[in-house]
Amino acid sequence: MKKHNFNAGPSILPREVIEKTAQAVLDFNGSGLSVLEISHRAKDFQPVVDEAEALFKELLGIPEGYSVLFLGGGASLQFCMVPFNLLEKKAAYLNTGTWASKALKEAKGFGEVVEVASSKAANFNYIPKDYVIPADADYFHITTNNTIFGTELFVDFDSPVPVVADMSSDIFSRQIDVSKYALIYGGAQKNLAPAGLAFAIVKNDILGKVSRYIPTMLSYQTHIDNGSMFNTPPVLPIYSALETLRWLKANGGIAAMEQKNIAKANLLYNEIDRNKLFVGTAAVEDRSRMNICFVMKPEYAELEAEFQKFATERGMIGIKGHRSVGGFRASTYNALPIESVQALVDCMKEFEKLH
Ligand SMILES: *Cc1c(COP(=O)(O)O)cnc(C)c1O
Repeated sequence: MKKHNFNAGPSILPREVIEKTAQAVLDFNGSGLSVLEISHRAKDFQPVVDEAEALFKELLGIPEGYSVLFLGGGASLQFCMVPFNLLEKKAAYLNTGTWASKALKEAKGFGEVVEVASSKAANFNYIPKDYVIPADADYFHITTNNTIFGTELFVDFDSPVPVVADMSSDIFSRQIDVSKYALIYGGAQKNLAPAGLAFAIVKNDILGKVSRYIPTMLSYQTHIDNGSMFNTPPVLPIYSALETLRWLKANGGIAAMEQKNIAKANLLYNEIDRNKLFVGTAAVEDRSRMNICFVMKPEYAELEAEFQKFATERGMIGIKGHRSVGGFRASTYNALPIESVQALVDCMKEFEKLH
């Protein structure tokens, strides 16, 4: 049976990327060696990092003055690297979910943290809009896509202070104006590559302003100065990331990807809104295009386990909602074809007929 992979992360990657990665594990560039057994400084590996960096810049339209970094430690290490490198006195955070809360908590160890707004009281089902960014903050931190709660912040807004964004689960899914951000980071395992890799897009001139000692490995400057090769980087995920970036470029870039993602999200949200059994959990205007959360309507609540089983038997993988929301979550990352979304929609329609 065909499997439809709606996993939230690690998650679906393009089949072509998996195959090319597997090929490089067996024989890298016809060298007779595996990509796993060569030096990261080998003359044929350096071009992998160089091309990945160049494609990041090209696909996202990254302006001059920014560096692209490939780092270990996942997005969670960035929760501490950000304040370590940028927080001198005060930072502002928008609290829109579990990951945003974790980032905020980490910053508290480094200085004063202002939570400008939070949607926690509504179980993070919307993105707060009325708040003031303190003009004396060192930076303002946002999480553009809330993977667990299925909300997304689509505007690249102007801010009186540098904006830092966790884009772990929506990077490359839609066009963004990088010039509005001082730092964009994320874990690779949602839309880019296997786990073990984080990326950071850093505006060079925001660094060097804190007075504390920054441990060498936690300093963005170290990784900028060494082209992400200060120590051995996660070579295999970087190789896969390169293949994903090539795939993105060959398939029309981010503009084309965004159109496909809009079509996929509309298809599923329209069914959630039409189907008498289900209801979406996120505020309509903040609905994520990457993580689509829905539950049974209260009057059909007892059907949850039955639908889970029904869908699983029809090849739907990874649709169980996160425990903090319950119900279902379909992650519709770049590599997920619209046919898979259609299969889920068909499944929801069929289930409705039985009830
Ligand atoms: C998954 C996720 C993280 C955590 O990523 P790790 O790489 O596992 O540390 C952080 N932020 C967001 C928005 C995520 O979706």
